[in-house]
Amino acid sequence: MTFNATLDSIKTYEAGRPIELVVREFGIAEDAVVKLASNENPLGASPKAIEAIIKNACNAHLYPDDSMYALKNALSKHFNIPVHSLIIGAGSDQIIEFCIHAKANTQSKVLMAGTTFAMYEIYAKMVGAEAVRTPSRTHNLQEFLEAYNTHKPDIIFLCIPNNPLGDCLDSKEVFDFLKQIDSNCLVVIDGAYQEFAKAKDSNKAICPKTLIETFSNVIYLGTFSKAYGLGGMRVGYGIANAEIIQALAKLRPPFNITTPSLAAAIAALDDKEHINASTQNNLEQMPLFERFAIEKGFKYTPSYTNFITYYFESPLDSTQIADCLLQKGMIIRNLASYGLNAIRITIGTEKQNTQFFTLFNTYLNKK
Ligand SMILES: *Cc1c(COP(=O)(O)O)cnc(C)c1O
Repeated sequence: MTFNATLDSIKTYEAGRPIELVVREFGIAEDAVVKLASNENPLGASPKAIEAIIKNACNAHLYPDDSMYALKNALSKHFNIPVHSLIIGAGSDQIIEFCIHAKANTQSKVLMAGTTFAMYEIYAKMVGAEAVRTPSRTHNLQEFLEAYNTHKPDIIFLCIPNNPLGDCLDSKEVFDFLKQIDSNCLVVIDGAYQEFAKAKDSNKAICPKTLIETFSNVIYLGTFSKAYGLGGMRVGYGIANAEIIQALAKLRPPFNITTPSLAAAIAALDDKEHINASTQNNLEQMPLFERFAIEKGFKYTPSYTNFITYYFESPLDSTQIADCLLQKGMIIRNLASYGLNAIRITIGTEKQNTQFFTLFNTYLNKK
């Protein structure tokens, strides 16, 4: 069978490996496996969100409220923005897809950082658009501006902070940059890790309200998968002016979010204690990973997220490191598919992190 030729240029997204796989392949007990690979919340979901999921299980036979009124209302209050400025996706991933489909075609260019979230390019290629990357791996807005002027992209993706490297632009420089972009170019600000950046440095905090009041061509994306601990529930949101939201709404499949997921997101948003504990654990544990890198002589990017990326030099090899740790039940993310000799480690609980340091230390001493 032949498929769309665009598929030939697409590499299948390599998701973080699941715990079940390690149990199956290496015979390690499920509770002994540590997963620090997908930037999930190591404290788990908010207990209030879990309660909401269970409570809504009895409505499993009913379609969810397609207007998603309750969640939109909660987000509208949370961000102090109108309800008509919101769209909900099955993860913010789905909204990235809507943005591409709304703006890009086979003639389009989509601009992004040298190393950034893989899904931007995958979705761009699905519609036959060309992904253009800045020369630097991390975000450099001067380079973005030059590439913008040269390539006239239809969409720009700014990942603030950036996955998988952890770098983060200042809010002020982002606003200055946006002033120089034509109002017909859609700028997507992916704020998947904004909660962590904000907790570390207020200069990094992007205010969606100010953003959409200042710029008509910008959409801010948030997710419940990371700081809010609901990766398994698949809920994300987009905030933009009504014109953009109405365009994206045409692309949204009906009932794209389940009832338990909607209820969980509302409860998680409301649980300030859990979100604070999550960002606090991250702030406390991150320096241990920096210290470990310094001791071992690894380069790392100072991170504004809930993960850290270590870069290696030969003979150390990220694929070998990831495989060896995997066999010991420690799942981390190898960044070889990004063309890097590097690994990305999600900041876990103190106990998980200690296990990582011990296992990695043993590996390094054997080398
Ligand atoms: C995790 C992540 C997302 C979206 O995750 P969903 O689970 O689909 O909400 C989006 N962008 C970046 C950069 C991410 O790391």
